[in-house]
Amino acid sequence: MAASGKVASFRLPPLPTIGEIIKLYNLRAERQLSQNFLLDLRLTDKIIRQAGNLKNACVCEVGPGPGGLTRSILNAGAADLLVVEKDKRFIPGLELLSEAAPGRVRIVHGDILTYRMDQSFPAHTAKKWEDEPPDLHIIGNLPFSVSTPLIITWLEQMANRSGPFVFGRTRLTLTFQKEVAERLTASTGSRQRSRLSVMAQYLSTVKNCFTIPGRAFVPKPDVDVGVVHFTPLAQPQIQQPFKLVQKLVRNVFQFRGKHCHRGLEMLFPEAKRLELAEELLRSADVDPTLRPVQLSMAHFRALADAYGRLCRENHELIGYDFREELRQKHQRQRRSSKSKEPHPHHPIKKEKC
Ligand code: SAM
Repeated sequence: MAASGKVASFRLPPLPTIGEIIKLYNLRAERQLSQNFLLDLRLTDKIIRQAGNLKNACVCEVGPGPGGLTRSILNAGAADLLVVEKDKRFIPGLELLSEAAPGRVRIVHGDILTYRMDQSFPAHTAKKWEDEPPDLHIIGNLPFSVSTPLIITWLEQMANRSGPFVFGRTRLTLTFQKEVAERLTASTGSRQRSRLSVMAQYLSTVKNCFTIPGRAFVPKPDVDVGVVHFTPLAQPQIQQPFKLVQKLVRNVFQFRGKHCHRGLEMLFPEAKRLELAEELLRSADVDPTLRPVQLSMAHFRALADAYGRLCRENHELIGYDFREELRQKHQRQRRSSKSKEPHPHHPIKKEKC
């Protein structure tokens, strides 16, 4: 009984509904900020349950908007909830929530893409990387417009143990467009296997929790939405710098339908392309005729280790970007074809027959 009494004390006092908050503050959804709101508190409670036990936890919520998920986070017992919202129209409604949960809500009017989370929570929240995850969670019904760049940034910070990961293996519970959620969790051989699958899964355990139909949002987006939970791995599956892995994986998947050697060749300057790609594949013991989607995490680990060795032997390789080489080539071609064009004021004289 004592325990349920404690939980009951977390619950918010009666408040206007989210629909009423939207009307009260005239919060018309802005397409530019990918605003699609969740008004059904049973659904927001269901999302929050995917994060695990939030009793007395620290939470950062991304894009709280009118505050549906925010209420569920508070009702689940979070002790310190930091909300980061870009659109200032939502701040008064969030202040109302903050008054209903005294001392538990901090409101930041800012952009999550530039917000420094490494200084946002007290030092005692931190756990050693190898220990259990800290009692700190990032939660958000993310705007579609920033969800992919944001998860890439967080994965890089996870690899470098910076940003929200200075506190240890901070867990994330986030929404994505359904197709992106499927890519994040796709296993080897599946149709959705992509760059995002490898980048997310080499660093964390990723779970596609459930799908929310588009009609659950106001206004209704054209797509369905997946709820995805990430727990950073104590030991990443690839032990190479993030940028190196990112470059390798991007190169492999740029020719999705071709054999994997095709994308790998582009890691190397034209003059030594075939020779070095062959050496890479041989040293990683990877069959060059496998398709990118057929490569397992063990294959990527072996390729990243072999590529890391080649980069250490030849320091220019890591900075090499075939796109840059192509761009320069096109520029040279354009310049030389321009120099052959007749000068507008000095037309070429017609040759006599
Ligand atoms: N959490 C609310 C809900 O579930 O009803 C709103 C979700 S809505 C999909 C996304 C929210 O993120 C909006 O409130 C929007 O203003 C906010 N947002 C968009 N870009 C942002 C950014 N770069 N930083 C912080 N918030 C952002």
